[in-house]
Amino acid sequence: MALRFDAAVLRSYDGRFAVEEVALESGPAGGEVLVRVAGSGMCRTDLAVRRSAGRSPLPAVLGHEGAGVVVETGGPDTGLSAGDHVVLSFDSCGRCRNCRGAAPAYCDSFATLNLFGGRTDDAARFTDAAGGALAPRWFGQSSFADYAVVPARNAVPVDPSLPLELLGPLGCGFLTGAGAVLHSFGVGAGDTVAVLGAGAVGLAAVMAATAAGAVTVAVDRYPERLALAERLGATAVHSAAAGLPGRIRQLTDGGAQYALDTTGSERLINDALRALRPRGHLGLVARLHRPLPLEVGALDRGRRISHICEGDAVPGLLVPRLIGLWRAGRFPFDELIVTYPLGAINEAERDCDAGRVVKPVLIPDGRAR
Ligand SMILES: [Zn+2]
Ligand SMILES: [Zn+2]
Repeated sequence: MALRFDAAVLRSYDGRFAVEEVALESGPAGGEVLVRVAGSGMCRTDLAVRRSAGRSPLPAVLGHEGAGVVVETGGPDTGLSAGDHVVLSFDSCGRCRNCRGAAPAYCDSFATLNLFGGRTDDAARFTDAAGGALAPRWFGQSSFADYAVVPARNAVPVDPSLPLELLGPLGCGFLTGAGAVLHSFGVGAGDTVAVLGAGAVGLAAVMAATAAGAVTVAVDRYPERLALAERLGATAVHSAAAGLPGRIRQLTDGGAQYALDTTGSERLINDALRALRPRGHLGLVARLHRPLPLEVGALDRGRRISHICEGDAVPGLLVPRLIGLWRAGRFPFDELIVTYPLGAINEAERDCDAGRVVKPVLIPDGRAR
C-alpha cells in the first residue's frame, strides 16, 4: 500500500517550496531502507539547484542532510534493522575505482546519483498526490520530508541516545569542512590553517582545526560569524581588512600551511594563495562558475591547489569520529544550528541566504497520512 506523507516540493527554479502530500507507491527495495526523518539540514547545495540551469530535474524534493529512524529495511544485506537511528550522507555506487579506493565522494556516478535525479530504478514509485512524477531522489535521500527511501550504503548508524534531529548536517556540510581539515590536509597539533568564509563548512573546519590543536585564522565579512569563529578557537580577520594576506602570514608565523576557501571568491582565493607558506596547500570547496585567474607566481615554491569534495570523507568513518569529538566538547556543531518546522522552509532559506543563520535544520512533523 502506498505511503502518503508531507514533503517540501520545489516545482520551479525561482519558485517557493510548497509543503504538500506526496506518495511512495512501494517500500524499500533490496539494499534500501525507509527512514522516518527526524531533521534535515539545509545546505548551500540545496539552494544551488536554483542555478543548476535545468540539470537538476524538477519538481523535486530536496534535502540531503537528513537523520532519522529506520522503519523498514529491504532485507538483511542492508545491515540495518527497524528502530536503528541513522545519519544520511551522500550517495555513491560502491563499485567504481574511487569507491573501491575509499574515496566515495569522487564516485564516477557522483553527479548522476546526487545532483541530477538520483538512482532511476523504481523511479516511478515517488509521485505527488495527483500521481505526477517527482525527481526520483536528491543525494540518495530527498529528506525535506516526513520519510525518505535511501540506499543503506549512505545511512550511518548512530547511538540512539544522541539528539537525532540535529545530526543530519554531519552527513554533508559539517563533514565537508571537518573532513578537509582532518583528512585532506591531515592537520596536526601546531599546524597553521586559514579558513576563508565562516559559514557552516568554514566553521566546521575551524572546529576541526581547533580540535586538532592547530593555530587557526578565520576570514569572513559578517561580524557575527567572525565572533562565532573566535568562540570556536580561531583568530578572526574581516575579509575587507587591508593587506589581508600579510595579516594572515603574520598570524601564522610566516604563512599558513593550509588554507580552505569556502567562498569561491577570486580575490579571496588569490589572497589565500599569497598567505600560504612555500609547499602550502589551498583546498577549494565551492563550485566555481567561471575560469579562475591566478596571479603570477601564485603557485611558486611548491604551493598547490586542489578541489575537495565532501571532505574526502568515508561517511561511515568520519561521522562517528565527529560525534566522538562532539561528546568530548571539542566539536560543538549544535551551537551553529537553528531549527525550523518543515512548513517554514522558505523562511529558513531566506535566513540562510541573508547570513542570519549558519545552519538551518528543518523538523518534519512526522505524521504519515
Ligand atoms: Zn562509485
Ligand atoms: Zn551539502
